[in-house]
Amino acid sequence: MDTIQEKSLDQLTKLIQSQECADLVVAWQTKLTSLKAIAPEEGGDGEMLKAAWIKEELARFNLSTVDFYAKDSRVSAGVRPNLIAQIKGDLPKTLWIFGHMDVVGVGDLAAWKHDPFIVQKNGDWLSGRGVEDNQQAIVSMLILAWAMDKCQIRPHLSLGLTFMADEENGSRFGLEYILDQASDYFKKDDIYLVPDFGSPDGSKIQIAEKSVLWIKVEVIGQQCHASTPAKGKNAFLAAAKLITHLDQNLATLFPQKNDLFDPNISTITVTKHLANVSGVNIVPGREVFYLDCRILPEVTSTDAFTLITNLLDAYANKLGVSLKCEIVHHHKASFVDAENPTIPSLKKAIKKIYNVEPKLIGVGGGTVAAQLRERGLPAFVWSCIENSCHQPNEHSSIRATIKDSLVFANLLFDI
Ligand SMILES: [Zn+2]
Repeated sequence: MDTIQEKSLDQLTKLIQSQECADLVVAWQTKLTSLKAIAPEEGGDGEMLKAAWIKEELARFNLSTVDFYAKDSRVSAGVRPNLIAQIKGDLPKTLWIFGHMDVVGVGDLAAWKHDPFIVQKNGDWLSGRGVEDNQQAIVSMLILAWAMDKCQIRPHLSLGLTFMADEENGSRFGLEYILDQASDYFKKDDIYLVPDFGSPDGSKIQIAEKSVLWIKVEVIGQQCHASTPAKGKNAFLAAAKLITHLDQNLATLFPQKNDLFDPNISTITVTKHLANVSGVNIVPGREVFYLDCRILPEVTSTDAFTLITNLLDAYANKLGVSLKCEIVHHHKASFVDAENPTIPSLKKAIKKIYNVEPKLIGVGGGTVAAQLRERGLPAFVWSCIENSCHQPNEHSSIRATIKDSLVFANLLFDI
C-alpha cells in the first residue's frame, strides 16, 4: 500500500467509524426490513421493491447499476432483480462482494417479540426479519460505497457489489442467472467474498463445503391386516431397521476425517418421511423416507451414493423387502485452494479490525460460494454474525456491520 492509499484508507476508516455512519446502519436496516423480499415459494412477491430502493440509494452516491432481471411469472413484477454496481480502480482486478436481498418467511409469528418487519433497536442490536441474513452484508456494502463517494477516493483495486435475488431457494433466479448472463464480469484471479456465514467473533473464514446429497428411499413390502402381521412385509418396520443399520455402519462406510470441517466426518441423517397408511390396523406395504448426506470432498457423491445404496440393498435383501433409491437433490463439494493469495490479505484485514486469529474452516454446505467455486471462481465466505438467521427475533449488531465494512475496505486497499 502506498502513502496515498494509506491516507485514503485512514480517511475512509474515520468516516465509517462516525456516528453518522452508525445512524445510517439503523435507517438502512429499518428501510430494507420494511420492504419484505420474500420468495414466491413462501407466498411472497420477490425482491423488486427492495432492489429498486437499493438502486436509488446507490444513485444518491453516484453509483449506477447494471441490472439482470430473471423472468419469473409468479411475482407481480414478472422478474427477479439482480444488480451489479462497480467502482473502477486503476487495476482491472476486482474485489467482488455478494449480498442476497431475499429473506425467509417469519415462521412462528407468536415467537417474535415484535412485528418482524418493523426493526427494533436495543443498544447495539437491531432485530427484524432479514437484518442478519443477509441485510448485514447489504448494509456493509452500502456503507463502503457511501463512504468512498463521500471521501472521493479511488483504490487501485476495482470494487464490484452484487445484490442477488433468490438465494434462499436455490439461486436459479439469482446468482445462477447472473453467472449465466454476465460470466465475462468475473475473472479467475478476482477476489470473491460472500458475507453470508460467520462466527460471533469474526474469526471463521469458510473455504470449503461438503457435497450435499439428498436421497429418497422407497421401501416396498407387502400390506396386510395388523392382526396377522406375518402375512405381509411391514415396510415401516423394515425402514426403521434399515435406518438403524445405516446409522450403525456409517463410520465403516465413510472412515475419512478432515479437520477443516466441524464435524470432521461425512454425515448422513434421516429427515423427512411420507405418510403411509390411513388406519392403525393396517400393516404398511410402502414406506418412503429421505436421507440428508453431507459428504467430505475426499469422496465423490457418486461413490457415496453407491456405497449407501449397496449397504441398504444388501440389508433389504435379508429383511425380504425391496428398495428404490434415487437422488433428489445434489450439490458438489467445493473448496478454495489453501494456497490462494487472497487468504493472507483477508486474514490480515480481519485480524486488524476484529483482533482475532482468523481460522480457515469447512462446513456442511449451503452458500452461493459453492456456485462460484464450481465455475472456478475462488469464493470466501466470511462475516461477523451471531447466527440468528431464519430464527424468530433475528438480530444483527450495528458495530459488527460497521466493522465488516472496514474489513472490506482494508481488503480493497491492500494492494
Ligand atoms: Zn443468507
